[in-house]
Amino acid sequence: TDFTSLGLAEPLLRALAQEGYTTPTPIQAQAIPLVLEGRDLLGIAQTGTGKTAAFALPILHHLADRKAPAPRGGCRVLILSPTRELASQIHDNIRAYGRFMGLSSTVIFGGVGARPQVQALSRGVDILVATPGRLLDHVQTGAARLQGVEVLVLDEADQMLDRGFWPAIRKLTGLMSKNRQTLFFSATMPEEIAKIANELLKDPARVSV
Ligand code: AMP
Repeated sequence: TDFTSLGLAEPLLRALAQEGYTTPTPIQAQAIPLVLEGRDLLGIAQTGTGKTAAFALPILHHLADRKAPAPRGGCRVLILSPTRELASQIHDNIRAYGRFMGLSSTVIFGGVGARPQVQALSRGVDILVATPGRLLDHVQTGAARLQGVEVLVLDEADQMLDRGFWPAIRKLTGLMSKNRQTLFFSATMPEEIAKIANELLKDPARVSV
């Protein structure tokens, strides 16, 4: 397979060519068709397998396919990540893959001033990448709204659990529409993670590499 046969939108294929990607990695070949179908996904994959593009590419395709305004103070796609480093990396990848698509995005994490984040959120963005604690702060002050989330990604769920983010994540997901699509990635799947996944996902397709 190559990326063309996966049915991705033309501006995405152009960006991938610029990145020098020719062949999907195994997690990408498995996950992209399922996410394009709108399925919830439970992915067991480590960093380095290409899992970021495995969720980012079909999400970008979805945004290109179903254009709609970004909800004020909110986002259409929310990606939760355990650390600021990973959140920034994901955001950089999304900007690279989406560079020909004219989408808006921002990244939010703790340990830095909140005001620029509040300002970035106020207009609303297509894609928001965030760590759970700081996002919850913004939700509680009314700066962020989650009702419009169409697609939720939880990346490195086991790390988020280890860092004590589960109560925050539960509060955040409780505010989102049940009609959303949810993509859940973890490097490991101990029983505690499996239970959380079961709570958040509807009839998920499973992929592992
Ligand atoms: P990740 O597992 O998402 O952290 O990705 C690991 C690295 O592989 C990143 O540097 C990506 O830019 C790169 N990468 C992801 N998918 C592909 C691909 N299909 N072809 C070549 N490089 C890729």
